[in-house]
Amino acid sequence: MIRYTLVCDAGHSFESWFPSGSAYDEQTERGLVTCPVCDSAKVSKAPMAPAVARTDRDRRPAAEPSASAGLPAVANPPPTAPVAGPMPMIAEPERRLRALLKAVREHVVSTAEHVGDRFAEEARAIHYGDAEGRPIYGEATPHEARELAEEGIEVMPLPPSPDDRH
Ligand SMILES: [Zn+2]
Repeated sequence: MIRYTLVCDAGHSFESWFPSGSAYDEQTERGLVTCPVCDSAKVSKAPMAPAVARTDRDRRPAAEPSASAGLPAVANPPPTAPVAGPMPMIAEPERRLRALLKAVREHVVSTAEHVGDRFAEEARAIHYGDAEGRPIYGEATPHEARELAEEGIEVMPLPPSPDDRH
């Protein structure tokens, strides 16, 4: 015996037992399988595997209206989320990123020479060997930064300090 969950053309879902899969095919073809709700013979297998050894875990209430009708709801409630909300999941990486950027900035500020708005000029001079090679930092306009990049001079924007308020 094999049990199929069937659905009629009106959308009613019900279960029926058959001696075999081919018996199901034959009986539905001859219109012998009808919907218990609306008597429609236009039934087909619901899009799920035939039940052979189902466990409670696999039960889907929507597929078994006849079996579960009238019973009080006993479904396991969804587990409560251990976290209060999405905030920690977003804030944590951002906090780490900010700490990382702060560390980068502090490293640059403590090891590089501040050249102010002469940055592009100095970077170019160092690149072409006209000035002593050393790490520098300073201010550059987006236009200057693009020009440096086009000349193959590697520069990177310094992460803004949280203290900076321009
Ligand atoms: Zn029906």
